[in-house]
Amino acid sequence: MKKDQLLTRRRVLAAGAAAACAAGTAGLLTLGGDPAAPVAPAPGAPARRVPMKPSAYRLQPLTGYGPPRTAPGRTPVRREPLLRVSGRGRTMVLTFDDGPDPRYTPDILDTLRDYDVRAMFFVCGEMAEANPDLLARMADEGHVVGNHTWSHPLLTRLGRARIRTEMERTCDIIEEAWGDRPEWFRAPYGAWNRAAFQLGAELGMEPLAWTVDTLDWTSPGARTITRRVENGAAPGVVVLSHDAGGDRSQSVRALREYLPQLLDDGYHITVPRRHHA
Ligand code: ZN
Repeated sequence: MKKDQLLTRRRVLAAGAAAACAAGTAGLLTLGGDPAAPVAPAPGAPARRVPMKPSAYRLQPLTGYGPPRTAPGRTPVRREPLLRVSGRGRTMVLTFDDGPDPRYTPDILDTLRDYDVRAMFFVCGEMAEANPDLLARMADEGHVVGNHTWSHPLLTRLGRARIRTEMERTCDIIEEAWGDRPEWFRAPYGAWNRAAFQLGAELGMEPLAWTVDTLDWTSPGARTITRRVENGAAPGVVVLSHDAGGDRSQSVRALREYLPQLLDDGYHITVPRRHHA
């Protein structure tokens, strides 16, 4: 655990530095400071989408900004994860990792619903398998579900076959419970490697990291989590929080504080889109 925490901290610093570098960059995507990384994938062919559980929200285009439309099989292999989204106006994205957890995720969903806001949930396959009803609720309420691997391993310690299994099984359970293949993935601990980027692209997913880490897993107190979000708020920012993996009651409470504040400040809280025009 200690090593993972160090790793997380290192990634926080790296992500912060890259985000600072990229802050002035115009364009649809902002990547970590690798100038050789592809910035705009070729416009995609019609997306392969087989909705199994259509809902009112999901039949409409999702509002929001993100990578250009791409299709599975044509997703670019990146060398860095995306760190933020950009677009017109004060757009921000809230993401919740490691769930769903029936102790915390319903409260988070309630708050999002109270404010009519959509968010992203990077779920673990084993949690999704145990709580398919929560993924169905996410679908019904218009939230985006991403792939956070099956069992939350450190991918950089695994061989390619294991990484593939971790990612593929999670895509399958998400499709079953949420209704679509995920279009986004996030490596546990923010520890990416080449195999993860390649396999993610093969599975039609874009790698999304974050701009602001609330470090809520250290239980710093709801007020501190709130302050971190409010201090980090800026157009294009992607916020990392957790709805599972420990006692997340602080994360639940903090959301109730910072969400109305962000909305009062004029932020449009949304989810990135890929396949909708
Ligand atoms: Zn995680």
